[in-house]
Amino acid sequence: AISICWLRRDLRLDDQTALYHALKSGYPVLCLFIFDQQILEQLPNKADSRIDFIHQTLAKLKAKLEQKGSSLLVKYGKVEQVWPEIIKTHAVKAVYTNTDYEPYATQRDNGLAEYLRSENINFFGYKDQVVFEKSEVVKADGKPYTVFTPYYKQWLQKLNPFYLKPYPTQKYFDKLAKIPPLPFPTLSAIGFEASGQAFPSIHFENKLAGYDQKRDFPALDATTHIGLHLRFGTLSIRAVTQEALAQKAHKWLSELAWREFYMMILWHFPHTASHSFKPAYDHIKWRNNETEFEAWCAGKTGYPLVDAGMRQLNETGFMHNRVRMVVASFLCKHLLIDWRWGEAYFAEKLLDYDQASNVGGWQWACGSGNDAAPYFRVFNPELQLQKFDPKMDYVYRWAPEYQSALAPAPLVAHEFARDRALKTYKLALNEK
Ligand code: FAD
Repeated sequence: AISICWLRRDLRLDDQTALYHALKSGYPVLCLFIFDQQILEQLPNKADSRIDFIHQTLAKLKAKLEQKGSSLLVKYGKVEQVWPEIIKTHAVKAVYTNTDYEPYATQRDNGLAEYLRSENINFFGYKDQVVFEKSEVVKADGKPYTVFTPYYKQWLQKLNPFYLKPYPTQKYFDKLAKIPPLPFPTLSAIGFEASGQAFPSIHFENKLAGYDQKRDFPALDATTHIGLHLRFGTLSIRAVTQEALAQKAHKWLSELAWREFYMMILWHFPHTASHSFKPAYDHIKWRNNETEFEAWCAGKTGYPLVDAGMRQLNETGFMHNRVRMVVASFLCKHLLIDWRWGEAYFAEKLLDYDQASNVGGWQWACGSGNDAAPYFRVFNPELQLQKFDPKMDYVYRWAPEYQSALAPAPLVAHEFARDRALKTYKLALNEK
């Protein structure tokens, strides 16, 4: 009999909650990863860099497990078909996972837990992705916060060393199932190919000093780029938070809390993945002009900061946070294109794509979110450029045509677009 530790967004062996509990279960532990056909089939780009990253990371994990006399079971298929196969071929006593808070994952895990119960197998879900999950940080009446500032105050108040203690998995590695190396599918066997993408380093410690002053200037590239590692769990959030505290990096710590805030919101309000948090915003009459959308995607709007941001995204899978806010606001307000179109485009391109933060960021920019910018605050992309990239270093790096007269004319004039947005929003929101 064995216990299975099913890896998903927690691709590491150290300080890993589910793995720790599995190792202490009393049964030998087999680590498993499933390439979920349902998710993979939706990805339009067969050279998707996130799949490449997962594949490379699994190869490393497998090698580490094999050094310890164990291996990694890697499957490809629909989750509801893969599990019965596993149960047939292995005497599984219990399945250990770390909770994934996205609506699709919640539904998938609930279904699996029920199936496993019918087979007399326990299913356990642990907190690992966040310091505080679900309803751990709520208002006095037990309801979830919908505004960040009071949430963060409470989050900080609750934070103590207990929550950041690493799970010492290495002490129990002798409990890993002793098995010969298992087969490992190539990328092409699961329908993908190498992306050629260089991935951001796992080291962020030297970026924290000066973060507060530099973080808003995209040309300085002074942020950590660890989103990808937090997304796939190649870094432990507990270790990362500990480092923020050790360096007294308060601003950066609050950004980690924004991530948890959005995860908490999506868990409590799963409908916000595809609907506005504020229902009235679902009545906005979007123009949804496809040609303009394509120009935005390609970074050809004629607004330097918007175009540079979209080029950075298309070329590297990353975009600076300040610029994400500007391009998102531009799409929703200047072009009056549905935030869901932009959200989907980011989901396809971002290396650090995370449904909760992406939906949160888009709804914030559009004005429809729980703690969003008021609708009448329309970012002026030219003023944003003057403030945050005054020498145009960032713009020239990604959209060099702005150094010459080759740049396209603006797709729409700012003042005109601003008025049009305000009128359209007011109509939907019934405001005078
Ligand atoms: P740093 O500034 O070094 O911050 C460290 C970590 O804190 C980040 O990696 C991230 O995990 C978290 N973080 C920082 N800022 C935010 C924020 N505003 N909201 C939530 N978490 C934050 N972030 C994602 O991780 N995935 C997304 O899909 C995503 N989509 C976004 C879409 C829009 C329209 C906007 C405005 C923001 C989005 N963000 C998203 C938030 C933010 O832009 C990125 O987390 C940040 O730019 C990543 O860069 P970094 O790793 O260098 O961050």
